Amino acid sequence: PEQDPLPQELQPTKVVDRKTYAVPVTRTPDIQDARLKLPVVAEEQRLMEAIYNNHIVVICGATGSGKTTQVPQFLFEAGYGSVGSDTPGMIGVTQPRRVAAVSMSKRVGDELGDHGHKVAYQIRFEGTTNPDTAVKFMTDGVLLREVAEDLALRKYSAIIIDEAHERSVNTDILIGMLSRVIKLRTELAQEDPKLKPLKLIIMSATLRVEDLTMNSRLFENPPPVIEVEGRQHPVTVHFARRTTSDYVEEAFRKISRGHKKLPPGGFLVFLTGRNEITQLSKQLKAAFGGLKTAEAPRVRLTASEAPTEVEDIEFGDVDDGDADDMDSLPSEDEDEEADEDEFKIEDDQEAAPMKMQVLPLYSLLPTKDQLRVFEPPPEGTRQIILATNVAETSLTIPGTRYVFDCGRAKERQYDPVTGVQSFEVGWISKASASQRSGRAGRTGPGHCYRLYSSAVYERDFQQYADPELLRMPLEGVALQLKAMNLTHVVNFPFPTPPDRRILARSEKVLHYLSAISTTGRVTEVGTAMSVFPLAPRFARILLVGHMHGCIHYTIAMVAALSAQELFLPDNQAVPALAESTTEFRSNSDIIAETKQAEMRKRFNEVHKNFCYLDDRADAIKLLQVVGEFAHEPFEAWCDNHFVRFKVLKEIQQLRRQITDLLRNNIDGFGNLRFEDKLDPPMPKQVAALKQMAAAGFIDQVAIRGDLAPTPPETHRPPRRPIDVPYLPLTPLVEADEADRCVYIHPSSPMSHLSVQECPQFIVYSHLQKATQSANVDKKPKTRMHALTDITGGQLSVLAKGTPLLTYG
Ligand code: ADP
Ligand code: MG
Repeated sequence: PEQDPLPQELQPTKVVDRKTYAVPVTRTPDIQDARLKLPVVAEEQRLMEAIYNNHIVVICGATGSGKTTQVPQFLFEAGYGSVGSDTPGMIGVTQPRRVAAVSMSKRVGDELGDHGHKVAYQIRFEGTTNPDTAVKFMTDGVLLREVAEDLALRKYSAIIIDEAHERSVNTDILIGMLSRVIKLRTELAQEDPKLKPLKLIIMSATLRVEDLTMNSRLFENPPPVIEVEGRQHPVTVHFARRTTSDYVEEAFRKISRGHKKLPPGGFLVFLTGRNEITQLSKQLKAAFGGLKTAEAPRVRLTASEAPTEVEDIEFGDVDDGDADDMDSLPSEDEDEEADEDEFKIEDDQEAAPMKMQVLPLYSLLPTKDQLRVFEPPPEGTRQIILATNVAETSLTIPGTRYVFDCGRAKERQYDPVTGVQSFEVGWISKASASQRSGRAGRTGPGHCYRLYSSAVYERDFQQYADPELLRMPLEGVALQLKAMNLTHVVNFPFPTPPDRRILARSEKVLHYLSAISTTGRVTEVGTAMSVFPLAPRFARILLVGHMHGCIHYTIAMVAALSAQELFLPDNQAVPALAESTTEFRSNSDIIAETKQAEMRKRFNEVHKNFCYLDDRADAIKLLQVVGEFAHEPFEAWCDNHFVRFKVLKEIQQLRRQITDLLRNNIDGFGNLRFEDKLDPPMPKQVAALKQMAAAGFIDQVAIRGDLAPTPPETHRPPRRPIDVPYLPLTPLVEADEADRCVYIHPSSPMSHLSVQECPQFIVYSHLQKATQSANVDKKPKTRMHALTDITGGQLSVLAKGTPLLTYG
């Protein structure tokens, strides 16, 4: 149908002519030049007309086309976001990742010149919003909470949901919610002339948007899709001839060679996690980081790592696609030969010697370190960024010309039947691989070196990744929806509906926690629980807490339990400390080794000391760490105790937030004040806290296998505590007997007990299958994150009313 033209004052007929905008913006010439090169800017007219004529518009454009930085500015200039204008209310922009919310708000603020101070961000505990804010960047979780508070989102004139192609769980829920918010706002606007309809703009880096547009449950009429042509320079993709399992080592080899041979230009390396990034960063720094004595370490090739690619494609070669021989394992002789060749660099081929600047980029990294990737490297230096998925679509790092892609990502997996969660390293999708390679073509033609063969790519890579919603427990989502009176969660307009078994399981859990009634309606307890930014199980613990007069401990315990991983893993903690003693290392390896042994001893001691209050509960160990940190809240203390400063700071903020929420929302807490420093709890309190922790997980009890009514057949008696078989009382549906058992996780305090001391009952917070290692023969055991032990007596008290628990 013919669309109405924009009213005169909103017509951006000429992009450079500022006068035609409702809110004129003066930008610096640099910024204006850079903007005009972005493909999105050429579509401004078409886009604004579509937004003017529709409530919902979808924008698809390749990463780097300018969606995130420009679309909020189009809306701002057209008058959205201005107080007293035709379209009052802020422009809200959601991001799945905190890094992106912070850095993009900074960038848009810079671009908006004099109006820059009107751009703010809000992430979980940190924000810069104020009464002047017109453009608000936030994580999708933040907006979801705001929808719960005001279903009409009256504070906003437009919402932009960015990175929709990632299909994060919050994005999916938000899109479902917003489809209803839009309707509500339209209705309200008819009654109240001061309230305008809300505009929703969904932005995606891929064209796969049918789940959103062709979904009549979601949107009655399919919203228009505006495609923005990418202005992408060509990227030459090089596949490896063979696929290796030790891809970190492989990345090191290729980067080392590439750095010596390739013309100037930044490297962007995709790995799966922090550990790999740290490992590779150390290797590269040792080889190139100015330590004159250090030689490039020879590649480690042992027999156990046999399936290793030994041939390399010359840089500049194009893959002939003939990679069918990936399964044939080279003999050791061939290995040696190829290895020799690998490091033979012909002098005349060598590019001008360049220094290397290695920067990590992952979500647990402190924000100020994350932002370093946007600073240009020193003259004559090649910037090498080692990143996780963060760099796939959210952030465009200037100067990247070469991408190295390991082809894998660490992703959450969830078994809808057993409820076992795991984080497994697996192949990415073809769509992700293409996103990654595209990062090389922003500033000019680029190259992408894939550390896997085209045969593996064709055979093992899915076209697109599954939405996250299909891969996780949903009790939090279900409670949130029910608290908004959306009782029948199955009817919610999910862009992709989740497995019904997962939904059924979540309802069951909510029922155990007394958050919903037998008819599935939210109870008073459930409504109270939904106030907290916590998983329902933790919210339940919190509400049980006040009965025992140790609410401050409960808050601290719950905050710690719901935070990200607090402890540094030992393999990372120990070398990290050893690194600060490089002078010893370069002088003498023996001293360095002694240091490492000492460090390992310290690591074990520190962990043992954290179990001083109680030697068999993760929950109490965490509480002790939080308590000790409150008395010495310094980074140095964290380094000395192998814990993460960033996470502890977050726990502290979360404690504060929970305290405020309790005071303001829950009866009986009107006088509650935040107490940062806590005295150690008395033994009686520790016992009470353990019971409370168990109350949130009453359906997750395991009984010591050899003491169960029907003990599992074991081949031999366990020698270590982590080998003691436990049987979950809610059985895992698995075929053979041995697989029914779960085991104590090595990180648990209980791993220090003797086999005799291992308790009869354990309440676990979650089950985890170990990441399948390269050594594939051994089937990984399912391990429990042991929240606490309980006695049979406590169990029957907890189990009152739940027919599930019959032991003890
Ligand atoms: P999209 O959202 O479509 O992926 P963006 O709007 O994020 O695109 O990026 C557009 C351009 O802005 C990119 O070319 C990028 O280099 C540039 N840019 C984004 N953030 C910054 C920054 N912090 N510093 C310099 N340039 C930036
Ligand atoms: Mg973007």
